[in-house]
Amino acid sequence: MIDAGAEPRLLKIANPEVAAAELEAQSRAAALVAQRTGIRVPLPHVFPDGTTVRAVRLPDGAEAHARLLEFLPGHTLSGPRHLAPDVIRAIGRLAASFDVALADFADPGADRPNQWDLRRTQDVLADLLLSVADEALRDRLRTVADTAWAVVAPVAGALPVQVIHGDLTDDNVVTGDGRMPDGVIDLGDLNRTWRVGELAITLSSLLHHDGVDLPAAMEAVTAYQSELALTDAELDVLWPLVALRGAVLVASAHHVLRTDPGNRYAAENLVHEELILAAATSVPLPVATALVRRAAGVDAPLLDAPAGVPMLDAEAIEVLDLAPASPLLDEGRWLAPDAEAALARDALAAGARVTATVFAQPRLTRARPGQDPGDVVVLGVDLAVSAPAALRAPWRGEVDVTADGIALRAGGLVLRVAGDVSDAVSGAVGAGELLAVVRGSARVTAARDGVGVPEAVTVAMAPAWRTVVADPTAVLIGDSAATAPEPPDPATLLARREASVAEVQEHYFAEPPVMVRGWRELLVDADARVYLDALNNVTSIGHAHPRLVDAVARQWRLLNTNSRFHYPAIVEFAERLAALLPDRLDRVFLVNSGSEAVDLALRLARAHTGRRDILAVREAYHGWTDLTDAVSTSIADNPNALTTRPEWVHTVDAPNAFRGRHRGPDAAQYAIDAVAEVERLAAAGTPVGAFLAETLFGNAGGIPLPDGYLAAVYSAVRSHGGVAVADEVQVGYGRLGEWFWGFEQQEVVPDIVAVAKAMGNGHPLGAVITSAEIAESYRTQGYFFSSAGGSPVSSVVGLTVLDVIRDERLQENAREVGAYLKERLTELGRRHPVLGTVHGFGFYLGPEFVRDRETWEPATAETAAICDRLRRLGVIIQPTGDHQNVLKFKPPMCFTRSSADAFVAALERVLTTGW
Ligand code: PMP
Repeated sequence: MIDAGAEPRLLKIANPEVAAAELEAQSRAAALVAQRTGIRVPLPHVFPDGTTVRAVRLPDGAEAHARLLEFLPGHTLSGPRHLAPDVIRAIGRLAASFDVALADFADPGADRPNQWDLRRTQDVLADLLLSVADEALRDRLRTVADTAWAVVAPVAGALPVQVIHGDLTDDNVVTGDGRMPDGVIDLGDLNRTWRVGELAITLSSLLHHDGVDLPAAMEAVTAYQSELALTDAELDVLWPLVALRGAVLVASAHHVLRTDPGNRYAAENLVHEELILAAATSVPLPVATALVRRAAGVDAPLLDAPAGVPMLDAEAIEVLDLAPASPLLDEGRWLAPDAEAALARDALAAGARVTATVFAQPRLTRARPGQDPGDVVVLGVDLAVSAPAALRAPWRGEVDVTADGIALRAGGLVLRVAGDVSDAVSGAVGAGELLAVVRGSARVTAARDGVGVPEAVTVAMAPAWRTVVADPTAVLIGDSAATAPEPPDPATLLARREASVAEVQEHYFAEPPVMVRGWRELLVDADARVYLDALNNVTSIGHAHPRLVDAVARQWRLLNTNSRFHYPAIVEFAERLAALLPDRLDRVFLVNSGSEAVDLALRLARAHTGRRDILAVREAYHGWTDLTDAVSTSIADNPNALTTRPEWVHTVDAPNAFRGRHRGPDAAQYAIDAVAEVERLAAAGTPVGAFLAETLFGNAGGIPLPDGYLAAVYSAVRSHGGVAVADEVQVGYGRLGEWFWGFEQQEVVPDIVAVAKAMGNGHPLGAVITSAEIAESYRTQGYFFSSAGGSPVSSVVGLTVLDVIRDERLQENAREVGAYLKERLTELGRRHPVLGTVHGFGFYLGPEFVRDRETWEPATAETAAICDRLRRLGVIIQPTGDHQNVLKFKPPMCFTRSSADAFVAALERVLTTGW
């Protein structure tokens, strides 16, 4: 960089072979793009004579041309880092905007032979392949190129031609904010060629980035198409051109390395270029093109099998529904390694003659928690028979006996039966004639001739494969085809939700998965994607706990009524709750939620003290009722929280020793300040009736209060006649590992305790536990009744949850696995500065992200993007805190050590490869 006046500029000396006219063309194209789009491009300095190019002499005496270019701040998207969907869309839009801006650009300097012009690939490759020493690679590259060219050549004449950037890749796309692309550099490959070459080159450059598979790259196609509609011919050649680009990149790297073996840049690039080629050729061209067409919103017709004679007798066929919500898969049965075979065996043992799976159904039996979407869709039907079953030919055709079964060819389609097959015929067969006999299990597929059907594919790839693989169900078993309920389409369901559920009752994620099942600390969506649930604190004992399910079902069958009746469960539950608390807290109120519990706790405090004024801690959330909302000041939950307080609500600083007014050893000052506020309110004639606080700062990610904080404030409040109310809704009930209640960590005993969430494992359940004296003071308000609070079903839920926490040692698990995880996360933070610290205890952890470890500037946008990427990697977690820069890690308490490892592995991948 040299300084030419006020603006930093870049002196760019072109290769001596580049003519001044070409550089002037690039300057003019850049000016046009800058004028017509919002894209940042490096504009050249214009000399007084109107030109932008100057001849310079190089040290070796050669003459070259140079320009002074504007310096674009930011950096490129080079390297293997992850590109998120919104980033990929932005790249697609950049490419389209560039092409729209240059649509009418004409300049002789842009009409020139260029090695990277995709029109010339066959000639260029012929030359480059001479340098590829490895014969197998050479053959492969030639095959890739020939196969792709065979698609391109017939429509070449129909492809629109214009001047394009020609190298609009990750290396030349610039981001100003470190994430979103907003600029393009290096117009050195500007040339007049097929317009669609632009997008092909851009697309290929995405394919080596971490976590960018074919469906993810398609976001660029969708974005491009929304700005500039591609023609039918362009859509058909786009992926073949990606494959050609991949072949040229690899061949060219070998060529450079042949002539310059020490070229480290080329050697490093080759690794990425091989990844691009591998991805470009990972599926047959027609499948990739179907993906392209769908991404562009253009029809890609599915392949149908013609009607035929049913191959099997339809009687006694049992459909094996393997979809995520199938009742066959309850209680974790899908996790057994041989689940499919076991289910088929069970069905046959129960009397079915034949079992058949549902074609192309996402199978939960094939899904596992993992970082990338699994191959869960089988593009065929699996059969199992209890006794040998004859298969008839559905159509007239030619049969080949294959290594694993038979293949019937008819009308461009190949019907295969592979597995335990005997008595296969071969040669010509007529419709209805015997084909073979199935003796155990077999898979039936029907695909376009020449297409190999993979064992299974991802949900995102399945529709594209369906354009070359047909559903054989109807020809297999006739009209009574194996069907199962269609899963809801996520987008349609979301639209219906938005039209019916109040919008302000928000949902996680912009494009939320449709959740259909939970099991322990796992969640499963309708596409059979399995997620690690690091978020659901309410689900204390784990999703779908069989003991709870059975207990609830039993109680529903027996009785559910209200607490005015006399029945054992409410008594047993109240006794159990009281026994968990210090002796003097022995009276229990049963309600249905945390908001109700805190609301009731405050009403009790007011009734008991006869005072209205409440002192609460800032940045906390206590509920949505009028009263609990009045004392909630978390701006993450309500941006106007601090300015809309009634005059009887008083607040003290959030005693956050990590960020806030008093830090580290100075945090003791929070208690002194809070006590001073209690004294001030008493002196002002508005003494505090209730002091309300979470016993561990939950909303900020589980930050412990400074030692002695609650003891000091409780004592000051009590000395003026007030009472201490503990909100244990989030942090209580064993989650902290070391302590069952948060107040134990502070070594205090509150006067009133509000509990909810974990008590019910998701069933609406809340409780207030206090002394007999305070409980009795409610009489001044009338009598207490909650229609469903403490019902037989709710009480049984509460009892069973407590039994499971005890019997499965879940509090101990929280302590042990939580400590292990905290240590691993802390270690991760040593290698990734953005992970500033890890708050919390047990299964209430708060990894906090900061931009700067000196100033603790919160990394808010980063945290949101990290959560989104974690979701794409199969981990559900959300930000918390007023700065939304802390992960709220509070999983079901059955979270295992291996789940902790999986959580760390996913977070490490995100921190290493980006978001
Ligand atoms: N108190 C605290 C500390 C909470 O976190 C919440 C819920 N987030 C509540 C009270 C309110 O509980 P609920 O949503 O069950 O009404």
